[in-house]
Amino acid sequence: MKKITHAKAAFSRKLLEWYLANRRDLPWRRTRDPYHIWVSEIMLQQTRVDTVIPYFNRFVERFPTVRDLAEAPEAEVLKLWEGLGYYSRARNLQAAARQVMERHGGRLPAEREALARLKGIGPYTVGAILSIAFNVPEPAVDGNVMRVLSRFFGLEDDVARPATRVRMEALARELIPEGHAGDFNQGLMELGALVCTPRAPQCAVCPVAAECEARRSGRQESLPVKAKAKAPRPEYRLAVLVEGAGPLAGRVLVRQRPAEGLLARLWELPHVEVPDPEVWESPEAAPAWLAGALEAEGLRIKPKRFAGEAEHTFSHLRWRIRLWTAEAAEGGLFSSAGTTPAAASGLRLAETAGASAYSAAHSAAPSDLQLGSRSAARSAQPAFSAAQDGACTYRWITREEFAEMAWPNVFRRLLASYFEGERV
Ligand code: SF4
Repeated sequence: MKKITHAKAAFSRKLLEWYLANRRDLPWRRTRDPYHIWVSEIMLQQTRVDTVIPYFNRFVERFPTVRDLAEAPEAEVLKLWEGLGYYSRARNLQAAARQVMERHGGRLPAEREALARLKGIGPYTVGAILSIAFNVPEPAVDGNVMRVLSRFFGLEDDVARPATRVRMEALARELIPEGHAGDFNQGLMELGALVCTPRAPQCAVCPVAAECEARRSGRQESLPVKAKAKAPRPEYRLAVLVEGAGPLAGRVLVRQRPAEGLLARLWELPHVEVPDPEVWESPEAAPAWLAGALEAEGLRIKPKRFAGEAEHTFSHLRWRIRLWTAEAAEGGLFSSAGTTPAAASGLRLAETAGASAYSAAHSAAPSDLQLGSRSAARSAQPAFSAAQDGACTYRWITREEFAEMAWPNVFRRLLASYFEGERV
């Protein structure tokens, strides 16, 4: 017991000294503004520091206060987040900024319960904001911190279990030196990021090596214990790049995902899931399947050529996408058979954004605006998965409009190649 108490005291003291002497100069460390610290902590979730820096700088320059963020159009927030991934973070951040305006007059509260009631703020972020912005002695335990504590104290509890996190939070709370909550918590994070790394920890330069249990027993590589996460499930998808002709020359057809669910409200190329990987990969079977699946949604295309393959990985899912170029089928791009409201079919042309695109489509092919409802009638047919939970909005866009809209990485890359004149 005495030994553990000694180890804890040594850990807290040495870590704090090391951090104060070695901390990296990061933009969010030059401020005590709770809002800026909050933005940085949300961006840093699942994302590397180097990646976050330019995003953070752009974001706080454009939205320097909670009010600026709360009042911004969501499309602009998503555009500034484009490429960071996990877009629900951006939407929750803005929703929470609006809550801060309504409930706290635009000032982030310094109380645990009030912070925890804000959208998208979990126990780690509560602890990080309270300790870093307000120097309140609250632990901030994430995967990095659990790795350091597991190794230093030789703990074999499975860090994937919620009960372990609770125990780690109690331990981390005990370790906080009086009056130094912010620096100590940042020191723990910094040690995990720079020294006690997931692979090949640098014990030779570690400030707490003398008392570290994992180093003493040679268990650096086997700790922390973590139940294996399931590999992301592959999902096979065919996407289509429809090029405009006549008055729509230079434009491509894109759609906006529904307001709820995966990648909500981001823009993308139309794509469909293919249950059979052999069909997905077959140069003969894929075009027919793609045309049939899209027609079931009311979009009538004729695939022309295979244009490439790309991937998009989520935490639980990996989209494998094969892209085909296409042209509108004879008789018009949108099915004219439908009679029910467009939203019910999952197809809708943008009416607000890009008025020119709308009128161009209208004047070029009036029948294209008679939106189909075949998906409802053919529910057994393959359908847009995105459209199942709500309507997708379709739009013909130019290269300039592309640059202004928010995209998941995979579609931004594909379209950037296309608009830059490379064959995709
Ligand atoms: S001595 Fe090695 S294993 Fe222990 S905390 Fe330091 S870097 Fe991690």
